Amino acid sequence: MKVITDERCTGYRQPGHPERPLRISGTLEKLRHQKDLPIEWALPGRADEDAILRAHTPEHLARLRIPEDFDGDTPYFAHIADFARSSVGAALDALTFARTGETVFCLMRPPGHHATRNRAMGFCYLNSIAIAVLEALAAGTKRVAVYDFDVHHGNGTEAILLDKPGTAFFSIHQYPCYPGTGTSNVGNNCFNYPVAPVTPREAYRKVLERALDELKKFKPDLVAVSAGFDAYVREPIAQETLEVEDFHWLGKELRKLGVPMFSLLEGGYSSDLPELIFAYLKGLNGL
Ligand SMILES: [Zn+2]
Repeated sequence: MKVITDERCTGYRQPGHPERPLRISGTLEKLRHQKDLPIEWALPGRADEDAILRAHTPEHLARLRIPEDFDGDTPYFAHIADFARSSVGAALDALTFARTGETVFCLMRPPGHHATRNRAMGFCYLNSIAIAVLEALAAGTKRVAVYDFDVHHGNGTEAILLDKPGTAFFSIHQYPCYPGTGTSNVGNNCFNYPVAPVTPREAYRKVLERALDELKKFKPDLVAVSAGFDAYVREPIAQETLEVEDFHWLGKELRKLGVPMFSLLEGGYSSDLPELIFAYLKGLNGL
C-alpha cells in the first residue's frame, strides 16, 4: 500500500495542544518498524490553487497568511498555509493513486474536516477531503461518497458538499461534542449519525455499519474516508469506547466495498494513535 507523508508536517506546534507533531512522528516510527504490512512511501506533491479554490474563498486563503489565531483551538502558526497546502497536496495525490486501484493513506497534519469555505476551526485550515472530492468530480468521476468516522462531526466537509450533485456525505460522530452540529440529515446528500457519549462499542459499531450500508446504496464510484481515530476509548478529548480491533474492523469493512478509495488522517489524539492507524491499515489491506 501507499502511505503519503512528509516529516516536515511536524514543523509546527503549540505546547499542550492535542494536535501535536508526535501524532505523525510516533506513527512513522511504528510503521517503519513493522514487518506485517509492506509500505511504499510517497511525498505529497503541490496542491493546485484552482483545486483549493473550488472549496475555499480567496479571502480565506488570504486570511491564512495573517498572523492572528483563528479561534481558541486553532492557532495561527508561521507558514500554516503551506502546511495545510501540503495536506491538500497529499489528498490530491491520494485521489490519483486511488483511481489506479491502489490502497492509499495520507499521514499528514493539519487535519481538514472542520474547515469551512471561509473559516479555519477545530485544528483545521483547509478542507483536504472536500478539495479532493471536488477535484474527482471535475476530473469526471460521477459519484463520490465521503465516509467520516472521526468522532467529531465533519461540519466543514458537510458545508462545502451540501447539495452538490454527485456527492454524498456520511458522518458518524459523538453528540453532544465539538462542534455541536450534525444532529440530523442536511440537504439531499448529507447524512448524520450522532451517537451519545459513552455508547458501548458494539452499539457504536452498529451505527458505523448502518452508515456504511447507506453509503453502499448511493453506489459510489469512489469513496473518500475522513479517518479520525478519536472514537477510541482512551481518547483524551472525546468520550466514546472503540478499541484497537474496531479500527481494524473498519478497515476490513471499507475494503469490502471494492471501489477505489483513499483515506486521510483527521483526528486521533491518544498516545495509542500509531497502533490505531496500524490496525486500520492492516484491515484496509485484508491482513
Ligand atoms: Zn476529531
